[in-house]
Amino acid sequence: MTSTSTPTGSTPHFPVAIIGGGLSGLLLARVLIAGGTDATVFDLESGPGARTQGGMLDIHEETGQAALRTAGLYVAFRAKVHPGGEAVRVWDEKGTLVHEEPDTGDGDRPEIDRGDLRALLLASLPPHALRWNSKVTGARPLGAGRHEVTLADGTVFTTGLLVGADGAWSCVRPLLTPARPAYTGVSFIEFDLMDADTRHPEAAATIGGGMCFALGGGKGFLAHRETDGSLHIYSALRTPEAWLDAHDFSDSERTRALLLDAFADWAPQLRGLLDEAEHGFIPRRIHALPAGLTWDRVPGVTLLGDAAHLMSPFAGEGANLALADAADLGTALLAHPGDSEAALAAYEAVLFPRAAETAAMSAASLDMLFGEDPARRLVDMFTGAYDPQG
Ligand SMILES: Cc1cc2nc3c(=O)[nH]c(=O)nc-3n(C[C@H](O)[C@H](O)[C@H](O)COP(=O)(O)OP(=O)(O)OC[C@H]3O[C@@H](n4cnc5c(N)ncnc54)[C@H](O)[C@@H]3O)c2cc1C
Repeated sequence: MTSTSTPTGSTPHFPVAIIGGGLSGLLLARVLIAGGTDATVFDLESGPGARTQGGMLDIHEETGQAALRTAGLYVAFRAKVHPGGEAVRVWDEKGTLVHEEPDTGDGDRPEIDRGDLRALLLASLPPHALRWNSKVTGARPLGAGRHEVTLADGTVFTTGLLVGADGAWSCVRPLLTPARPAYTGVSFIEFDLMDADTRHPEAAATIGGGMCFALGGGKGFLAHRETDGSLHIYSALRTPEAWLDAHDFSDSERTRALLLDAFADWAPQLRGLLDEAEHGFIPRRIHALPAGLTWDRVPGVTLLGDAAHLMSPFAGEGANLALADAADLGTALLAHPGDSEAALAAYEAVLFPRAAETAAMSAASLDMLFGEDPARRLVDMFTGAYDPQG
């Protein structure tokens, strides 16, 4: 492995090592490198296309959009926004359309394909800033804020600033806190309907041009129309983990039967989404870190994005916060050259209260979406008549 800086003895040294090339790690690297500070991203994947990213993200003005402006990528982002993606529909389980909002083109939550956003961030970095096939297995403090990091292939390097942008199961987090994500009680079974207008016209008509919720009885469908004309659908259930452990989701026909059974009391039009599911079903257990998680300042290391504040996706804020954290940390580091402790303290002073507030909102949204009368309460939230935290 070659380092981008002068080696210390025979061990390569990286001034700033960002573990994780998700949205947060890439945006941080972009802000630092554009500001003249060297940074290197280490990711366990074999390359940028190793995994399909899937799913649409709505990017919020105060967090995600502001971060993209800080990174100088806002114009490139706008060029990739999905026209029509801000349309919203809400169905109840009986198949009654209880709410519909068109995309008027002037909303403040433009939608982008997650893969397009990641590609945009990757293209903004010089190739030497990205180290693929670099799974971090451990890190230990060396004193004076320096850390030694070990990769799965046995390679070791040192760094002056270690940033954990490595998501839900962060291997950097234990340097700061023993907290671990816990199961929220809700799981998604994810599936796609490809080429929807031609092959699945009824499903396409049900979901519409943007985001669609169908909710009732502790269950639901959360669906998006994607830029490639497919429908990306999460069937969501409040269910114990034992229910997931008991099923082999790689058996598509058994999974379809299982889900049709779980949604047996739902309107045929909504159950029809399951009838038409293709490309297999992917189970996703939704985990969260404790809301309001903080840690004492540890020299030379910090966290951002899901590594710092994994939360359920029901407030649609995780990716937005990941981008905002990265922009704030990058800005703080550039503002305190040579004093990363001052930068980390300034960053964490913003990070902790913002994450706590949003995590509480996500938890309240989960209770609302999987509680009593969810479709009506969601509509009341959209129209300002109901505050899930109130
Ligand atoms: C089903 C679902 C739907 C969601 N929908 C939305 C939404 O609509 N809106 C929204 O704002 N948010 C949403 N989120 C949340 C959002 O996806 C995350 O908050 C966001 O991706 C976090 O970004 P990140 O950079 O912190 O972590 P990640 O995107 O998880 O990136 C972590 C990176 O670290 C790498 N990595 C992990 N471990 C190691 C290691 N040991 N060594 C090296 N590399 C490692 C991984 O390969 C990955 O590239 C959703 C989440 C889920 C699960």
